[in-house]
Amino acid sequence: MPRPISAIISIPALRHNLAVVANRLRDNYVSAGRARPYIWAVIKANAYGHGIAPAVQAFAQADGLAMLDLNEAVHCRKLGWTKPIMLLEGLFTPDDVELACRHDFTVVVHSSYQIDMLEVARLKRPLHIMVKLNTGMNRLGFSHADFPAAYQKVQALVEAGLFASVGAMTHFARADDNLAITMDQLRDFNSLTSDIADVISVCNSAGCLNDEILPYLPLAPEHWVRPGICLYGSSPFSLSSAESFGLRPAQTLQAQLISVQQVEAGKGIGYGHAYTASSSLRIGVVACGYADGYPRHAPSGTPVTVDGVATTLVGRVSMDMLMVDISHIKEAKVGSVVVLWGENGPSVDSVAQASGTLGYELLCAVAQRVPRVIQNTNEAIHEK
Ligand SMILES: *Cc1c(COP(=O)(O)O)cnc(C)c1O
Repeated sequence: MPRPISAIISIPALRHNLAVVANRLRDNYVSAGRARPYIWAVIKANAYGHGIAPAVQAFAQADGLAMLDLNEAVHCRKLGWTKPIMLLEGLFTPDDVELACRHDFTVVVHSSYQIDMLEVARLKRPLHIMVKLNTGMNRLGFSHADFPAAYQKVQALVEAGLFASVGAMTHFARADDNLAITMDQLRDFNSLTSDIADVISVCNSAGCLNDEILPYLPLAPEHWVRPGICLYGSSPFSLSSAESFGLRPAQTLQAQLISVQQVEAGKGIGYGHAYTASSSLRIGVVACGYADGYPRHAPSGTPVTVDGVATTLVGRVSMDMLMVDISHIKEAKVGSVVVLWGENGPSVDSVAQASGTLGYELLCAVAQRVPRVIQNTNEAIHEK
């Protein structure tokens, strides 16, 4: 029997979260007399650790899928996804170009080497291009000075028939915590693109969920948003929970107790005796450690549930195990179900906050060795 640990992926929760975002965008836009934007569901990093296949199935209502790994993109086509697929970092080699044409991908260009490469490649099919403008994230994208020429060049190649279409995109650095800086980014984007771009894409999850930003979003005929983290039931904001937006956890990391110890007052627990029992404690040993993707930095006090009852981690997380206090959970025994995060457990964001990181990192760090259980409705199907 494999170790009693699994990551349960809920298709209904993924589907629900997409609907929450779509409804919210529709309500905000319609009340402002505008059409709902199109949605790229962002499924990079193996769909934030949830798996490409469940994501493709659950996000069937999205208008497109966005990611950065070419193999994951090809996998989506093999799974039957026929709507647009965008490669967020664009292409890196001429071989990539061939694949992108074959599968009709939408390709971001953020640097001139990418335009040069596409210009000389023998494209088997005209590609859809999104030109990225750096408005202050200072990661990818053309500078304010270089963007107009890059965009014009791509536009000329559209007219020459090499490319099928061109749009403009940018990425927010602080849509989760700083409206003024986000507005500066938007103003910069609008100043360079509003007269020339019919297709634009600007919002991550924080942009999609932040009502203060929505009214200022561009008025281009085709506006695509790019929500990621919220689709998986985690919040992009440190001060607002996913639950407060009506989002549901889509990934539940679940294990079992494999041993129970009685530890006397004054004795240390685990490596380094990082935790000392202040009174006699009943300790449960959980089949989950940092090699499963649980954060090693999670301190004593990090929330967890055992048999549906809230308790806390005690001592240091080991490679394959961690310990929890079950002194107050009389029924708890070997085989008891432990939820590290997700449905019927703490939110992934609360575990992340205790560990000094983000839900993003925890969701996509769940190790390969943890079996994924895909939940379609009520029944669970095992996938390797
Ligand atoms: C990851 C990513 C997104 C989605 O971001 P979330 O914060 O997960 O919503 C959108 N756009 C780009 C370019 C990204 O890299």
